Amino acid sequence: MENNIKVLITGGAGFIGGALIRKLLKESNYNIFNLDNLSYSGDLQSIDSLIQSLGKNAQKRYKFIKGDISNKETVENVIQETKPELIFHLAAETHVDKSIICPENFILSNILGTFNLLESSLNYYKKIDPEKQKKFKFIHISTDEVFGSLPQNGFFNENTKYDPRSPYSASKASSDHLVKAWFHTYGLPCIITNCSNNYGPWQYPEKLIPNIISKAIQQKNISIYGSGKNIRDWLYVDDHVEALLLIAEKGKIGSSYCVGGFGERTNKEVQLLICKILDEIDPKKFPHSRLIKNVIDRPGHDKRYAINSTKIQQELDWKPQIKFEDGLKKTIYWYLNNLEWAKKMMEKSGYSGDRIGF
Ligand code: NAD
Repeated sequence: MENNIKVLITGGAGFIGGALIRKLLKESNYNIFNLDNLSYSGDLQSIDSLIQSLGKNAQKRYKFIKGDISNKETVENVIQETKPELIFHLAAETHVDKSIICPENFILSNILGTFNLLESSLNYYKKIDPEKQKKFKFIHISTDEVFGSLPQNGFFNENTKYDPRSPYSASKASSDHLVKAWFHTYGLPCIITNCSNNYGPWQYPEKLIPNIISKAIQQKNISIYGSGKNIRDWLYVDDHVEALLLIAEKGKIGSSYCVGGFGERTNKEVQLLICKILDEIDPKKFPHSRLIKNVIDRPGHDKRYAINSTKIQQELDWKPQIKFEDGLKKTIYWYLNNLEWAKKMMEKSGYSGDRIGF
């Protein structure tokens, strides 16, 4: 990693942004600015406790800025003041269920917020000297959900047509299109990543894997949408972070990278595997699978996501290091030891963790 560069990370109080910041604090000497509005899914505990243990040098290299990317003035000020050489844009509303119930925040944060960042980045980029321009990069973190739903066969890749189905994926698709336009029209050096489902420690417990784990640990019913046959491709969060850093270092400006985990599983398989692991490490009177209950499927529920990540493997020599079963075990152990955090996060947002059952 390059020396001492200034990096602005939006959404760094969230799950993936937090993992990225923790890695940079431990393994680089970057100066890190974390812009986040601390929405219900944002929390700084993981970063704050790491900084305490790392000491003064880490403290000096990190600054948290509470701010909303949907506010143009905030974004303009942050970019002018922090003068970033690299931007990782992760701030977003991210929960599909919530996007169905209340899409407006998704339009504001994911579309308007991205527009504000692009505009302010461009204003700033145009004024910096050519040497700095050569190095500047705007990395936009997006999702494979923008491509819609796959049948039983086939994979998403960088040439797959956009076909979003939920308000969440539509808002992320819009933001990707804006990023492409700011590259082609104005020459802002951008790269887009489209990644499959992430899992790991510190993930807000509304998402599938931490939801199942924290419910099962507490011996509460685990609900599953429809038949549970929907297929997702799972990637351990640290493997995603590794891909983002490689893309920032060596990725081709103006292009996009599909990042996947070769971890296709039906939701039902994921549930049963978590229950099996918990039966081994935290046995109860009955098998944990007795807690599983089906609820009515959600509208527009994509059938299958799967990623062909040949491009990032061949161009950047990336491949996931953590096997699904191993990553899942680590994650389950983490939630067993940090259940209070998961409960605190759910209480903060008033969310019960139940699948909604539309
Ligand atoms: P998350 O919900 O855990 O974190 C999102 C963070 O963004 C939170 O800290 C939140 O406070 C912040 N935020 C939301 N709106 C904001 C606003 N208007 N202004 C400032 N901050 C705001 O999400 P995550 O899982 O860490 O996802 C991060 C990014 O990665 C998102 O862009 C998401 O679309 C993308 N992504 C996620 C996954 C996944 O499986 N989690 C997969 C592929 C791509």
